[in-house]
Amino acid sequence: MLVKILEIVAIIIAIMWTSGVIYLISKGRIFNWFYHNVMGWHLPTDEPQEFDGCNIHAYCKFCGKEIMQDSQGNWF
Ligand SMILES: [Zn+2]
Repeated sequence: MLVKILEIVAIIIAIMWTSGVIYLISKGRIFNWFYHNVMGWHLPTDEPQEFDGCNIHAYCKFCGKEIMQDSQGNWF
């Protein structure tokens, strides 16, 4: 009987842990989507970026558009 209860508790903990991880991952994706599509903030890829003497040029990780970094460090 005690073993059965421990088994059920272990399953419940496993389900909670799994759903917590899924929640954290999807939350991160929702934030990325929100910042990119709603706020219009792009994120550069890890590819080498070129500096034209005024702005740093890179390509957006999400939409592939050419983006530039301003003096405040924001990508647009
Ligand atoms: Zn983009």
